[in-house]
Amino acid sequence: MPHDFATDAEAERWHYRPPEPVRLNPLFDWPPRPAAILHWYRGAWLMLTALTIPLLIALVIWAFVLPPLEQMQSFHISWIATVWLMNVIPQTLIAGGLHWWLYMRKGQGMRKKFDKRDLTRKNGTFTFNNQVLDNIWWTLGSAMTVASLYQCVIYWVMANGWVPMLSFAQSPLACLLWMALIPMWSGLHFYWVHRLEHHPKLYKHVHAVHHRNVNVGPWSGISNHWYENFFYFTTYFIHLIIPSAPLHLLFHSYFQQISPVFSHCGFERLIAKDTEVAKSGDFFHQLHHRYFECNYGTSEIPFDKWFGTFHDGSAEGTNRTRAHKKQMYTR
Ligand SMILES: [Zn+2]
Ligand SMILES: [Zn+2]
Repeated sequence: MPHDFATDAEAERWHYRPPEPVRLNPLFDWPPRPAAILHWYRGAWLMLTALTIPLLIALVIWAFVLPPLEQMQSFHISWIATVWLMNVIPQTLIAGGLHWWLYMRKGQGMRKKFDKRDLTRKNGTFTFNNQVLDNIWWTLGSAMTVASLYQCVIYWVMANGWVPMLSFAQSPLACLLWMALIPMWSGLHFYWVHRLEHHPKLYKHVHAVHHRNVNVGPWSGISNHWYENFFYFTTYFIHLIIPSAPLHLLFHSYFQQISPVFSHCGFERLIAKDTEVAKSGDFFHQLHHRYFECNYGTSEIPFDKWFGTFHDGSAEGTNRTRAHKKQMYTR
């Protein structure tokens, strides 16, 4: 059912709010709804989305840039620098490009923008007193360093044959299935790491860096404290447990690093002229930044619904979140 805008106090808190409550992956609904599941996955995989854009980048980098595994048997600055650039350049192009289009050139004005406010300048909460510079530093400094470090270790272990691997030539179906499951693994890992980070002590010293951003922008996506990144990117080590090919790690990396750029960009859709080019923002996570103690996971696996922390954007959702917060802090 659409929100009742006339009676819903939530409506005026946003510049734009999706007319329908936030949806979760229907794969977990009972009784099964095959048409809804098909619609969900078609929307995710057959359009330009926070899923398919990382996949396209992974394919290009895999075909033209990734050094051969034989080179990675021992650590050498040339391939380590390549891996670092493989992270930094796409991240800068996508986050910088979106920031330019949405917040500097204001290419689509306020259309589909969730928050009424612009990004913050001259604010002592942020490193360098500036939200964008703060976010760029934590992304390119902290996140890219930790992500590159972990990836180098995994490529090095793979190159030395110390873990079993998959090959697209020998087991294409298993490879494709594992590619399709990576976002789900990422969502599962993220939910638990993120819940841990909301433990009051960790929150105060670590995760608060990410939550400086109530009104989020493209560079906020992985603008995380060093310690948070040490946890957040452990998701990649699954490739040392579940047999993978280098392309799996590549897709996982861009999904983990670039999809948050879209989900934090603050706009639900990207519009050029009058055409919607891509699905971008994620109201589910925008609500997390506004109300904090809700929507810890992603809409891919409905952990929040199962554990009673789901906020669907409605006024009831806000009341539920407030009650949950009260109970959290008075225990
Ligand atoms: Zn959080
Ligand atoms: Zn966030």
